[in-house]
Amino acid sequence: MNAELRQHAARYVELLRRHGKKEAWLPTGLARRLPGSSSPTTSSAPSPLAARTPKQETTARSAAPAINPKPKNDFDLNSVLQGVNGSKADKLAALREKTSNCKICPHLAKSRTQTVFGVGDPEAKLMFVGEAPGAEEDKQGEPFVGLAGKLLTKMITAMELTREQVYIANVLKCRPDMPANTSGNRKPTRTEMDACLPYLRAQVAIIAPTVIVALGSTAVEGLFGPQKTTISRLRGTWMELDGVPVRPTFHPSYLLHNQDLALKRLVWTDLLAAMEKLSLPISEKQRGFFLKPAA
Ligand code: URA
Repeated sequence: MNAELRQHAARYVELLRRHGKKEAWLPTGLARRLPGSSSPTTSSAPSPLAARTPKQETTARSAAPAINPKPKNDFDLNSVLQGVNGSKADKLAALREKTSNCKICPHLAKSRTQTVFGVGDPEAKLMFVGEAPGAEEDKQGEPFVGLAGKLLTKMITAMELTREQVYIANVLKCRPDMPANTSGNRKPTRTEMDACLPYLRAQVAIIAPTVIVALGSTAVEGLFGPQKTTISRLRGTWMELDGVPVRPTFHPSYLLHNQDLALKRLVWTDLLAAMEKLSLPISEKQRGFFLKPAA
């Protein structure tokens, strides 16, 4: 299994464990005790596992370090933009520079290869927000470049748009650190997300998109704080961040592990809603995507 697949499998195993599962079914039909569960049976190797229903979709999940004392991000966009009178691109460049030097979470500043600021059109009307960079994003300095990113790109293409026409960013600009010699990703902590959110809000203030699509429960949590309900219930609705309509939907990683047509349709319905809000043309063919299996 390549490193990235192993990471996705590890995320999924962690997700199952969080839902109280002790065993997973492999494609071979052999039950495996999940890593970290007591009384191991066959092997502790993580594997891509069977589909489940979209109740509480989550992605990265591992123990996170506590930061003490709680870091405070007192950054002020106006002072960052002082003397920058140019385009949105110039303003984003100044903000990128500021975030690249951020050391508010010292453990992340130490572990990251680089900050992962965002990519796309500074004038974009549509913005996608994910949770945090993974290993590949940390290496390349660009959000959503791994397997989940490839799926996100397909979703954007289905909207008849390109990655260059939208803007893509994460709540967290650093990859959440992992214990030495472990693969996979962990969910950013509340403290980390609170510390980093001002940068994302500053990106939103500069870009001023018409619509934001929030990818997954962690992104929603990062944007709006802990939610009383699940992403399954939040998707299909509109939320609002600083006056910008936000459409929550499932994370592409979740779709990678759940090849359910109905699940794809739900995500597509959210993207159609975003397209409508943007007054983008929608063909009959697009309206019918994922209603029946591809011929
Ligand atoms: N890659 C990202 O940049 N963000 C995610 O949320 C997942 C993968």
